Amino acid sequence: MVWSRTVGPLLMMIALPPFTYYLYLCLADYGGALVVPFSMDDVRQLVHRVPPPTPTAVVLYGGWLLVQAALQQWVPGRLVPGLTLEDGSRLTYRLNGWLTFWITLALAVAAPAAGLVPATVAYDQFGPLLTTANIVAFAGSFLLYLQGRRAGATTGDPVRDYVMGLLLNPRIRDFDLKYFCESRPGLILWVLFDLSFAAAQYQRHGAVTTPMLLVTAFQLLYVADYFFHEEAILSTWDIRRERFGWMLCWGDLVWVPFTYALQAYYLVDHAPELSVAATLGIIALNVAGYTVFRATNIQKHRFRLNPEAPVWGRKPEFIRTAEGSLLLTSGWWGFARHLNYLGDLLMALAWCLPTGFSHPVPWFYFAFMIVLLVHRERRDNAACLAKYGADWDTYCRKVRWRILPGVY
Ligand code: NDP
Repeated sequence: MVWSRTVGPLLMMIALPPFTYYLYLCLADYGGALVVPFSMDDVRQLVHRVPPPTPTAVVLYGGWLLVQAALQQWVPGRLVPGLTLEDGSRLTYRLNGWLTFWITLALAVAAPAAGLVPATVAYDQFGPLLTTANIVAFAGSFLLYLQGRRAGATTGDPVRDYVMGLLLNPRIRDFDLKYFCESRPGLILWVLFDLSFAAAQYQRHGAVTTPMLLVTAFQLLYVADYFFHEEAILSTWDIRRERFGWMLCWGDLVWVPFTYALQAYYLVDHAPELSVAATLGIIALNVAGYTVFRATNIQKHRFRLNPEAPVWGRKPEFIRTAEGSLLLTSGWWGFARHLNYLGDLLMALAWCLPTGFSHPVPWFYFAFMIVLLVHRERRDNAACLAKYGADWDTYCRKVRWRILPGVY
């Protein structure tokens, strides 16, 4: 269908970058309120506020990409084979994300301490950095498109090819571009943004507030956890099945760091009151979300590696599909088909609650995660039904709930 093949991807590419600017401008210029442009004049005013790239932002972002690329290439790490791809091939990856993450954080602390850059630089340059990252993502996607065309991998639809990508795992020699973009320049930048925003709050208001500490600590934990379990990324949908084009490239470089950091950006100049009880409640919520998220994902990972290993001290229950794969139906996986998504949603809530209830924009992340994960669950359900057929129906009858047991 033309709609899903071309128009959908095109609309996504046209709508999402302005939307990202919109969220940023609501925070930077309107204190977190939703601005509704009623006339063309209002729209023009918003457009005029889009920050151009500054030389500082260009140097910072260029340096950032180079440092991250060098770290991926040269920091020691285990060489691990990826899963077998649809064409039967297997690629090798150097898993050095954990070490890279901590080296980067050490550099990010050392550089301001040595007086090389102000600690607030990422806050001061957030707008120009957003524009610079957009330019890099659009230009980089074009180079990926050309690389795909040169390899003869075109569908004949240039819009779709550009947005959705042509090559599954484009590499420059042994440097894997998709694996790089999936985590290093975006996820780590998200943490550095948070730290810089905390520094900006301290500089402007003389203290780092409890809400800022909570958000920064929660998100640092989440990203650190990602790198600690880096091997798990090799079995994700993105690495195994998604071609590397604008959608992934822009999502990794722009969407993740620049929208996921909005709560901390908001908190720079807002200090919602948090009682001790509320603070403890939010910490408990994040711990609960993280526990469900981590334990669920790791349980499935271990089960797939060794289906004989006990689950919660008992022989695991599962459905053996005609296709050959086993579907776990006990432990966490007996409660709902995607309890791991519930864990993510609980954490998302814990990251937004510290921003209080005065403004809607810092709550964007929670709203987005609901839409993303409900939609993702539907897509995954359809893919599994196509793959497992009647066995999937049996599984769904046994594990009835999709995400939230008893409700959905
Ligand atoms: P899952 O890790 O849940 O993987 C789903 C796949 O697992 C299915 O396609 C199927 O693949 C297999 N599977 C499904 N049910 C079972 C079962 N009972 N037993 C064994 N295998 C099963 O999904 P995602 O990759 O979407 O999510 C991973 C994590 O990442 C989640 O916690 C999610 O919340 C998080 N996430 C976070 C995002 C963010 O931006 N913060 C974005 C997206 C995800 P098959 O059988 O083909 O192997």
